[in-house]
Amino acid sequence: MIIIMHSQVTDGEIDTVAAKLKSLGLEANISRGIERTIIGAIGDERKIHKETLEALSGVENVIRVLKPYKIVARESQKANTVVNIKGIPLGGKTLQVIAGPCSVETQSQMDLAAQATAHAGCRMMRGGAFKPRTSPYSFQGKGVEGLEIFRKAADKHNLPIVTELMDVRHLDDFLEYGVDVIQIGARNMQNFDLLKEVGKVHIPVILKRGLCATLSEWLMSAEYIAAGGNHNIILCERGVRSFEKTYRNMLDVTAIPMLKKETHLPVIVDPSHAGGKAWLVSALSKAGIAAGADGLLVEMHPTPCEAWCDADQALTPDELKDLMGEWRILAQAVGRDL
Ligand code: PEP
Ligand code: MN
Repeated sequence: MIIIMHSQVTDGEIDTVAAKLKSLGLEANISRGIERTIIGAIGDERKIHKETLEALSGVENVIRVLKPYKIVARESQKANTVVNIKGIPLGGKTLQVIAGPCSVETQSQMDLAAQATAHAGCRMMRGGAFKPRTSPYSFQGKGVEGLEIFRKAADKHNLPIVTELMDVRHLDDFLEYGVDVIQIGARNMQNFDLLKEVGKVHIPVILKRGLCATLSEWLMSAEYIAAGGNHNIILCERGVRSFEKTYRNMLDVTAIPMLKKETHLPVIVDPSHAGGKAWLVSALSKAGIAAGADGLLVEMHPTPCEAWCDADQALTPDELKDLMGEWRILAQAVGRDL
């Protein structure tokens, strides 16, 4: 059961609801978001009558949610969540494309990438300063220096930055450099301590799907973030492991409408890490938009063949610009815009 409080709720009213739950033998999880506070009742809720809680001051709505994920469930909020990223809406009618290189390499590489991202008409930029690499001997990312390079390059074009957080010890650096969207990578989708920490800040989070995660596991990971009070969550489908060897991962297109039914959170698609090949990005991204995705996360490098990471899947600046034109037409065909 979740108790949605009025937007102007006072601490006293929240305390009263928590005390009421306690008197009924339940614990209260208080999730203080920017727009609304939601109290989750933990324990045997069969003994509670909805009306008892609805009568309390400050309570807007009491909903019994049967799913293991509650705040993120469509049952708890009918309207789509629109995440506001420095004034740019993600989850509304307008699709958002987040483009940029796999990893931050040098200032000149990021300057060129930022220029190409803005020139193509994208409103946000990606780039990894901390890289989750399968081999410990591969390039691990520039670290904090990469955040500085990224910020400098993106600021020239007013592009909000999206970058991956792998370790809670770097959260302060992310705050210092004003990271606009924290990406939680596929490999950390079930790093619950990391999820709890990003739940405590109000910075939007892109939560990528784990390599083999079910939709329910993925939504429960999102719930960890929401339960902490951060309701600005964007889900990113990036392909799952399959038995097929000719491409990197299998883009789960079915997951998009399924998620739209199960959750009010925005869903974006990463066709780059799904296919693993630049030439596959066109088809996979279009499948994502046609299936109802709210945006794309794509890799683009000023000179893909020189990329330090994921060179095979990076678009060139020209390819990105051309695809933006095609995505715009497709978006309009499905009642969206770009
Ligand atoms: C990335 O987006 O840079 C990345 C490593 O993706 P994933 O976590 O989906 O593998
Ligand atoms: Mn990559």
